[in-house]
Amino acid sequence: MWQGNQPVCLLCWLRYDAFMTARIVDGRALARRIEAELAARVAELPFRPGLAVVMVGENPASRIYVRNKERAALRVGFTAETLVLPAATTEQALLSHIARLNDHPAIDGILVQLPLPSQIRSQAVVEAIDPAKDVDGFHPLNVGRLDAGAEAFAPCTPLGIMQLLAEADVALRGARAVVLGRSLIVGRPLSRLLLAADATVTVVHSRTRDVAAECRRAEVLVAAVGRPEFVRGDWVASQAVVIDVGINRLPDGRLVGDVAFAECVDHAAAITPVPGGVGPMTIAALLQNTLRAAERRRGVAPAQAP
Ligand code: NAP
Repeated sequence: MWQGNQPVCLLCWLRYDAFMTARIVDGRALARRIEAELAARVAELPFRPGLAVVMVGENPASRIYVRNKERAALRVGFTAETLVLPAATTEQALLSHIARLNDHPAIDGILVQLPLPSQIRSQAVVEAIDPAKDVDGFHPLNVGRLDAGAEAFAPCTPLGIMQLLAEADVALRGARAVVLGRSLIVGRPLSRLLLAADATVTVVHSRTRDVAAECRRAEVLVAAVGRPEFVRGDWVASQAVVIDVGINRLPDGRLVGDVAFAECVDHAAAITPVPGGVGPMTIAALLQNTLRAAERRRGVAPAQAP
């Protein structure tokens, strides 16, 4: 038989799905490319963009995330100030540090690593950050502007995911996208970005009646639930694009996502690995937001989006 103007073996065509393996969307490679573009741009600037990362307490996972962000910032030529405050820091003391960073002329982006200890109200801290330096995109002004489709800092993980989808050549207009999870840092803002890209978006959460059935309808499925290998192979439609946001450490030390990768890789069209998918792109997006904040604050015309 023929498909287009190509001859196709009928048996192969009938079993086409069975032989397909998903394209692995390499977030690490894309992040490296973005970093190289950012470094070239920074080298042309008459100043060095400045990123401040604040963490409270000694949560080991947060420590690793903070260190990775600081190293990435330095790699592209930013200055990076990391402030590690004691676990007993009061909200007032943290707010004073934020006020200092807001006023600091060499600091363009401020990121407060979450979660914060229980004596500190995260929302109060997020709202204290100057929206023009809010490179995490969590300030209500940026959240509202993103929702309204106005110019805003979008949160880094959703921003990174949109670039992964572009890298995988996913046509979002009209596509059925299912976002598993409705957190303020991933699911919710991602649903806004997908909607802005004209996808038909369903947001699934812990009160959804039939999570598996919703997932099966997805042409683009993004999993951000925080449960190891939650999405099973038979929840993923043939030829769906699967983005795995989860980072879960198993008792045996293995790092896995929210998607059962081995069960999905044979019939998805494309899938992101864990590690090496969304994680590196979150950091790349943070660097992009910081450069954008620096250029805006200092009145430099932005380069073409990297
Ligand atoms: P989160 O704040 O805990 O939110 C989890 C979401 O999943 C909630 O909306 C929750 O629903 C939903 N959910 C939980 N159990 C469910 C179930 N059984 N069925 C359906 N929905 C369920 O998590 P998050 O901050 O969005 O993070 C999600 C995952 O992404 C975590 O593994 C995290 O480590 C990872 N992450 C990775 C990156 C990265 O850079 N790669 C960045 C951020 C987060 P309700 O709202 O109804 O409770």
